[in-house]
Amino acid sequence: MDGKVVIVTGGASGIGEAAARLFASGGATVVIADIQDEMGEAVAASVGGGCRYMRCDVTDEAQVEATVEAVVAAHGRLDVMLSNAGVLLLTGSIMDMDLAALDRVMAVNFRGAAACVKHAARAMVSRATRGAIVCTASVASCQGGFGPASYTASKHALLGLVRAAAGELGRHGVRVNCVSPGGVATPLSCGLMGVSPEEIEASSEHYNVLRGKVLKAADVAEAMLFLASDQAGFVSGHNLVVDGATTAVNPAVL
Ligand code: NAD
Repeated sequence: MDGKVVIVTGGASGIGEAAARLFASGGATVVIADIQDEMGEAVAASVGGGCRYMRCDVTDEAQVEATVEAVVAAHGRLDVMLSNAGVLLLTGSIMDMDLAALDRVMAVNFRGAAACVKHAARAMVSRATRGAIVCTASVASCQGGFGPASYTASKHALLGLVRAAAGELGRHGVRVNCVSPGGVATPLSCGLMGVSPEEIEASSEHYNVLRGKVLKAADVAEAMLFLASDQAGFVSGHNLVVDGATTAVNPAVL
């Protein structure tokens, strides 16, 4: 990552914060784009290495475009877009689904990611940068049952977007991939669900085949780093699942 310019949306917390730290430790110039100003500024200051925070609500395309343009104006290029911002809302069971809340989930997890992919791709293609875009999906992009239907649908849609974008952008040398984590103790997974970090970690330990291990945000960041790096130069349109085989193995045999 030495010398690369990276935007991480949702970088003020959780998985995005871990990614900001890992990419910066590898020499990247990292811009955290989020809506939590105080946390974003504090994380950027503690990451160091020229890391800075910019307010960017991914549901507003104009803000996404302005953020990408500001980064390119300051650094001359954009090498990596980590489209990671996401929300999980308790939208109810299918028969009681709150459709307004469904729209809010889609606005961040799908439409917001689409804006990030679109404007990152424009910046990379117009400057002939053989860049990498990595979107944070979820095990909910592979199966139902990992959260409300709204969340599952948003992550399935995101995976479709990534595959379509990989197909279109390949001719420009831009790679587009997804990382799909299992449960990680972060404000997203703990806050709304009313579950403690310990309970998330106990469930993570129970629902993977790597007994005794618990998935951490830093593990997900390592997978993002691989997908963004030149080591993954022939990997595009891929969904890298980081779940200790939870979605690969019949749970009845665990
Ligand atoms: P988190 O709540 O710690 O971080 C999410 C970040 O996104 C926050 O900083 C938040 O302010 C930001 N954000 C929310 N809406 C935004 C918007 N409109 N514009 C810009 N930023 C916005 O949660 P996390 O667990 O680190 O989630 C990161 C990603 O990982 C999400 O896409 C989530 O769906 C995905 N994910 C999380 C888990 C898990 O168990 N934690 C599992 C699978 C996938």
